[in-house]
Amino acid sequence: MVKHISDRVAVMYLGRIVELGVAVDVIEHPQHPYTKALVSAIPVPDPDVERTRQRLVLPGDPPSPINPPAGCAFHPRCAHAVPRCRDAVPPLVPAGPAREAACVRLAEL
Ligand code: SF4
Repeated sequence: MVKHISDRVAVMYLGRIVELGVAVDVIEHPQHPYTKALVSAIPVPDPDVERTRQRLVLPGDPPSPINPPAGCAFHPRCAHAVPRCRDAVPPLVPAGPAREAACVRLAEL
């Protein structure tokens, strides 16, 4: 639905934008690990595909937005987290044409 009604989208986690870009690009080619998990939860209106699709299930519960984790607030739930993810809040950096994402491991994932 979002890619049909939006030109651009911003994906937020605990009050911070983690990915920003053209809606169809973000939905079809998510780059931030949180966006990938969100997109994997979108149901597919084809029973055969829906039965076999892989969903990325995040461990744990979302932390409190009043007291977010240090560094990347997504690190307690991210399958790709490394120690440096806790050092500082990752800034949004270019991640393609008209695209930005906030992840220190963007080039590796
Ligand atoms: S910065 Fe680290 S914890 Fe945050 S999304 Fe990227 S890999 Fe995961």
